[in-house]
Amino acid sequence: MTMIAANLQRVHERIAAVCAQAQRPASAVRLLAVSKTFGAADVQAAHAAGQRMFGENYVQEGVEKITLCRDLALQWHLIGPLQANKTRTVAAAFDWVESIDRLRIAQRLSEQRPETLPPLQVCLQVNADGGPNKSGVAPDELLALAREVAALPRLRLRGLMSIPEPGAAPEVYRRLRQLFDDTGARLREEGRIEGDRWDTLSLGMTADLEAAIAAGSTQVRVGTAIFGGRPAAAATSSPAPHPSRSA
Ligand SMILES: *Cc1c(COP(=O)(O)O)cnc(C)c1O
Repeated sequence: MTMIAANLQRVHERIAAVCAQAQRPASAVRLLAVSKTFGAADVQAAHAAGQRMFGENYVQEGVEKITLCRDLALQWHLIGPLQANKTRTVAAAFDWVESIDRLRIAQRLSEQRPETLPPLQVCLQVNADGGPNKSGVAPDELLALAREVAALPRLRLRGLMSIPEPGAAPEVYRRLRQLFDDTGARLREEGRIEGDRWDTLSLGMTADLEAAIAAGSTQVRVGTAIFGGRPAAAATSSPAPHPSRSA
């Protein structure tokens, strides 16, 4: 068994343990493997161990890896900040974008999503705890943005993504689940989304997946516990040097 396969198994065990404790079925929580700063060989090792969903923070790095792994049936999520000049590339390469925090970006993605591909699956990123340099829409602006994004023809709005500050109180996680439920209920009442389309609360990473799942996360984004540690500069959301980028 590879190190990555063993790590994946341990992460699945963590998820199952907290689901059991919270009386949620283990199938209620999906695992997104965050492969940023790691190479295609690591993605392939995770795929060989059964992993299918991968997350990338940086557009260029992600697109290179998607190209290298195109023979595998994988689902790619962009989870990092997205600038307007990169939306065309993202709309053509990724399956999901979880980091939408303004209408202009969503409009461009909808316009630029190739007709040959299914709609782009998207989440709105919420700034949960008002941290100073955090991206994400403020909770009181969320519903207005959600209404507009739900109307875009080539996007499917699936839910929310958030990155609480390290060590955030359980209350922060519970508020996010409440916001997810309330927003979904409103959108459904207003006829803006159908059925179970609003099904994703992307919350929890290596250090806080237990807190997130206990509060009702439906998807955790885990990097370190699967692939190992990253250089310090890459641990934040600022673009990091990457071997394949300097080429
Ligand atoms: C890097 C990153 C993760 C994974 O973080 P780990 O602590 O390595 O599990 C999850 N979500 C986002 C948005 C990230 O940037």
